[in-house]
Amino acid sequence: MVDVIAYEIDEKHIRYKCPFCYTLSSGRITDKAYNPRTFTLYKSAKPNIHTHGSCGELHNRIETRSSHCTFNNEQVNIHITDETKRPFGNNVVNFFKNYNQTI
Ligand SMILES: [Zn+2]
Repeated sequence: MVDVIAYEIDEKHIRYKCPFCYTLSSGRITDKAYNPRTFTLYKSAKPNIHTHGSCGELHNRIETRSSHCTFNNEQVNIHITDETKRPFGNNVVNFFKNYNQTI
């Protein structure tokens, strides 16, 4: 089981930056941010982003899903937190959070 924080959520998708794979500017996906033969960092390496369905819900929670990762097949606990980007910015979510607390 792996815990990750969702980078972004919208009505359709949850996205997180995978701790196990990287995308290179060539489009290749690799499990290492460096060339294993020369031990030099790939300058273009960025964390690869995996996408799962959000069930149309934007609130903070933990979603447990099967991994989409080629390099790690453990289940992932995707934490949707205050850090997770929302479609209209996090102020809207905070507005509803505060609004619900006052009812
Ligand atoms: Zn991955």
